[in-house]
Amino acid sequence: MNIEKLAELFKKFPGIGPRQARRFAYFVISKNNDYIESLMSAINVARKSVKRCDQCFRLFEIKKSEKTCDICSDSKRDRSILMIVAKDIDLENVEKSRAFNGQYFVLGGPLPILEKEPEKFMRINEMLTRVEQLLNEGILNEIILALNANTEGENTALYLENKLSIFKDIHKLKISRLGRGLSTGTELEYSDSDTLNYALRNRF
Ligand SMILES: [Zn+2]
Repeated sequence: MNIEKLAELFKKFPGIGPRQARRFAYFVISKNNDYIESLMSAINVARKSVKRCDQCFRLFEIKKSEKTCDICSDSKRDRSILMIVAKDIDLENVEKSRAFNGQYFVLGGPLPILEKEPEKFMRINEMLTRVEQLLNEGILNEIILALNANTEGENTALYLENKLSIFKDIHKLKISRLGRGLSTGTELEYSDSDTLNYALRNRF
């Protein structure tokens, strides 16, 4: 059935289960042509106006033909500290909180438990290259692993700590994690500014 096919596509959206996917499918097909056309054109326009930054790999809106986002190219931002996040939306939420003024790297996703091919889920090599670049500038002294406080986040942090350990001794690089303790702070994406400020101040 075609509506099932449509629902399957919606099921791929983050956080959407089968029931919600079917609701979306029924909603979309019951809309008039104008709505569907504006939806499709909004998706196309949004896709064409963004690209991934070649340094932090976040999606950003392109104004001319720049390769680097406004955060990475901002000379007022602290280059001694790099925050590693799983997803674009995590970065966006930390930026909104104004709790952090350093550099970022967007991994692309957390690492599922027992996954044999981590590079399929995260930009590992790109991350190592970025860390090396910042180290070569001679200023970087801390990396914050800002991951969700759940088993997947923990798994990702352990994997990254292991990967980054090669830099730890040679460059005296500090590798820290966000502090815990607030019940609302389990997912970065949904953490409010107070929680993020607390988590940053209490990193360990
Ligand atoms: Zn960037």
